[in-house]
Amino acid sequence: AALDRIAAVDPQVRGFLHVTAERARAAARAVDEHIAAGEDIGLLAGIPIALKDNLCTTGIPTTCGSKILANFMPPYESTVTQKLCDAGAIAVGKTNLDEFAMGSSTENSAFQVTANPWDVTRVPGGSSGGSAAAVAAGECVVALGSDTGGSIRQPAAFCGVVGVKPTYGLVSRYGLVAFASSLDQIGPFGRSVEDAAILLGAIAGRDPRDSTSLDIEIPDYTQFLKPELKGCKIGVISETIGDGIDASVKNAMQAAIEQLKDLGAEVREVSCPRFKYGLPAYYIIAPSEASSNLARYDAVRYGLRAEGADNLLGMYGKTRAAGFGAEVKRRIMLGTYALSAGYYDAYYLKAQKVRTAIKQDFEAAFADVDVLVTPTTPSTAFKTGEKTDDPLSMYLSDLTTVPVSLAGLPALSIPCGFDAQNLPIGMQLIGNVLREDRIFHVAHAYE
Ligand code: GLN
Repeated sequence: AALDRIAAVDPQVRGFLHVTAERARAAARAVDEHIAAGEDIGLLAGIPIALKDNLCTTGIPTTCGSKILANFMPPYESTVTQKLCDAGAIAVGKTNLDEFAMGSSTENSAFQVTANPWDVTRVPGGSSGGSAAAVAAGECVVALGSDTGGSIRQPAAFCGVVGVKPTYGLVSRYGLVAFASSLDQIGPFGRSVEDAAILLGAIAGRDPRDSTSLDIEIPDYTQFLKPELKGCKIGVISETIGDGIDASVKNAMQAAIEQLKDLGAEVREVSCPRFKYGLPAYYIIAPSEASSNLARYDAVRYGLRAEGADNLLGMYGKTRAAGFGAEVKRRIMLGTYALSAGYYDAYYLKAQKVRTAIKQDFEAAFADVDVLVTPTTPSTAFKTGEKTDDPLSMYLSDLTTVPVSLAGLPALSIPCGFDAQNLPIGMQLIGNVLREDRIFHVAHAYE
């Protein structure tokens, strides 16, 4: 059914870069055989899932939406995709993304522009726009994305689905192509909180191949899905419901807050005064890490090698000039500049101090409340092409998601209504470190 749906709607949605129909059918037959033989089947047996194309998959191209990796076949499997396969899930394909996950609209892909299934003249958000659109369009049941500064939550909001960025370290990054390693996390998309909770449980956990993965017991997240919120303390971050947020988004938030109160929650406003410095700090730190991580694309180890260079430096230069798109080049230049000897203290070091200050604001807020809420995005899905010439206005769509990433906290985006054009609006629920249980609880009760 998922493959039929992809055939029917993906020519308009353009969410997939590769559809793995043959492999999917073979995997489905294998599940049937296990069932016929009376054997145990995994938690996700037979569930069609889409994978963002920055997750390494053996035998399936992994392009990161970049020409530089257009022909790259990973020689190894990422930990998360291996876990899904072991649980019986059926990958139906790899989804489109902004090149190397840099962007907020999926327009930075070198291969195609994905449409928002609610209005195909609009973007699905990004960078995991292909995964969010695939779930919203019914081309799969659940999907995986990656979130460095909002790339799961923002497209989830734009496409009207649930998206979760876990606590930094909850999910192994082994086999996730690195963008900004201190921020990158893999997480689930689903049409319900329960689906997202089940998928997160299946991919989380310590992995000896990722030294930043946390050694903790992973609970069954579905046990936290309760219908009411008595005793639950929720804080609305006052800095996120004022200037710069569309009226339709503010109104939807107001209605959602009333509903949370009706469910028994105690809701109050809290202040995170340094939240607003998150965006500038993120756009120093993420490009800095990216400039270092992307140094590996040297025409020797991976993918593309441009013709016609007569020495080594020429080969690097020509390959990177031809292989990387404009946004990736912009980030490499920004990051290299911010890390250079003369500017390191003024930019990178300063941004790291801001990162600590933002963490302290969150810590103070969580002394009084269990969950924080903000709009996921300042506006609903914008028109394709509307922001492509204006990187700053594109960056502004990450206003409320990046501070959470800098602090390493878990957060979830849940649909909370529609604007006048019938475009979905998302509410972000933020938990303290490893308090995924609390955000799932509130989200499920609200849903
Ligand atoms: N939109 C943000 C950026 O361009 C976030 C991307 C992400 O989370 N991968 O960096």
